[in-house]
Amino acid sequence: MSVTDCLFCSIASGEIPADVVHESERLIAFRDISPQAPLHVLIVPKQHIASLDAARAPHQSLLGDMVLLAADLARTESIAGHGYRTVINTGVDGGQAVSHLHLHLLGGRQMEWPPG
Ligand code: AMP
Ligand code: ZN
Repeated sequence: MSVTDCLFCSIASGEIPADVVHESERLIAFRDISPQAPLHVLIVPKQHIASLDAARAPHQSLLGDMVLLAADLARTESIAGHGYRTVINTGVDGGQAVSHLHLHLLGGRQMEWPPG
């Protein structure tokens, strides 16, 4: 699949609409179309990186920004006090459906462990 066929690249470019909650030069965050919790936001680098397995040392600060944005959004969405979960699904066994790196921020309900 080429980058031009990538769903999250198309959302990042504005070609496909999304419920965007945050946008910066390097990142976009939008509400998941099929939320698995009262709050379910995806934090996505605008740069196409297929998965965490494709990330390398030059992506270090980008990955840091993704995690810190999750914490910021948890605070602005008022779930930080009760806690939340951040997830990066990777590859087939990880359950990754969209081949563009993204971090799930889930909250607003009690999470379970182990995950399914
Ligand atoms: P993953 O299984 O980790 O690859 O997660 C992909 C996520 O993208 C799923 O939670 C989907 O519900 C979500 N998703 C798919 N299409 C869209 C879309 N057009 N807008 C927002 N979220 C989407
Ligand atoms: Zn992409």
